[in-house]
Amino acid sequence: MTSHATRDRRYGTAARPALSMNIGPTRLARRVRSRLAEQPPPLYDDAFLIAYGECLRRMRVVLDAAGATVFVIPGTGTSALEAAAANLIPAGSTVTVASTGQWGDRWAAICERLGLRTYVVVATPGEAADLATLERFLTDQDSGVLLATHVDSSSGVRTDLAPLQEIAHRHGAMLLVDGVCAAGAETVRQNANRVDVYITSTPKALSAPAGLSILSLLPAATAQLATRNWPCVNYSQDLQSWLPVMQSMENGRFAYFQTPPSNLILAFAEALELITDEGITNRVARHRRLRDQLHDGLNTLGIDQLVTDPELRANGVTVCWYPADHEAGFLNQVREAGVLLPAGTHPVRGVSTFRLGHLGNVTEDDITRTLTALEEAIHAPGGGKP
Ligand SMILES: *Cc1c(COP(=O)(O)O)cnc(C)c1O
Repeated sequence: MTSHATRDRRYGTAARPALSMNIGPTRLARRVRSRLAEQPPPLYDDAFLIAYGECLRRMRVVLDAAGATVFVIPGTGTSALEAAAANLIPAGSTVTVASTGQWGDRWAAICERLGLRTYVVVATPGEAADLATLERFLTDQDSGVLLATHVDSSSGVRTDLAPLQEIAHRHGAMLLVDGVCAAGAETVRQNANRVDVYITSTPKALSAPAGLSILSLLPAATAQLATRNWPCVNYSQDLQSWLPVMQSMENGRFAYFQTPPSNLILAFAEALELITDEGITNRVARHRRLRDQLHDGLNTLGIDQLVTDPELRANGVTVCWYPADHEAGFLNQVREAGVLLPAGTHPVRGVSTFRLGHLGNVTEDDITRTLTALEEAIHAPGGGKP
């Protein structure tokens, strides 16, 4: 038996701190962390401007979005979603949300707050939203915008963007995709899949500190933004004001709209350099390989997943049903075994599920430790299984 004297419940042993398999924030490389401790450079500093430009250029590679306009601005994933909606959807429009969990609901909440007529097509938990139903809403309700989540971290569902873009564009609707839990871990083909606006943020598979909102606009969306003749209600998020700043930064010249969070930019540039060194294709393949290793182990342990169709399983997040007889104390038992796992957050299945984040700088050793801890928890005294 492990006593509390030798093992801190939250941080593991002194020799081996607990492993956090969270969705975000994810583990940072030392090189990335050290940029946060630097004195902020002057904003016209050449090295800073080069770092900013690299963030914009390298995000185009991560998203396979040559020719897109990339915005890297202060904010979270949520504020990036809000910026997209507030800048590209005129008040009074009708929108349709393909909801695969918590984040589809957030898309809807943002749109409702902006006064948009919002229809939500809710997927069966663990499945993708029904395409025929989505198409019916786009036709019957004359929705000008389709909003989707690439990977929903509450369900673990990865939505195939190819059929979504087909129905959106067939009905003349714009496609906006929340890729906060996908970029850096999944294959993203913004150009090929004609995702008008792809939205993400730093603290998940991009392995950088939280605090930067990222939006990538295909040329049609950029043109729509540039010629917009109605005001964005969110002054600080007005992408018309940010547009010349991003263009200027990419060309190595400082321009001002608001003070950029310079240390976050430096840290993000460092994280993107590591991603570039690994290669985005290799990075996605690593996520897939580690996911398969995790899923094989879960099968062996008899732990079932919410997502049953392997084609819909995300590379970087897994949502599992609690093992039989283990619900309440299970995550505490896993923590006793040295691994911190987040509880479920799905609007309907949250109470019966727990989650595993395997995003960013995850290693084979992390997966092995996680499976060992899960096995230990299943067999823990009082754990329920005979
Ligand atoms: C984490 C997450 C968000 C929200 O990001 P915040 O930075 O917490 O606002 C949005 N969408 C998805 C899919 C996420 O996983």
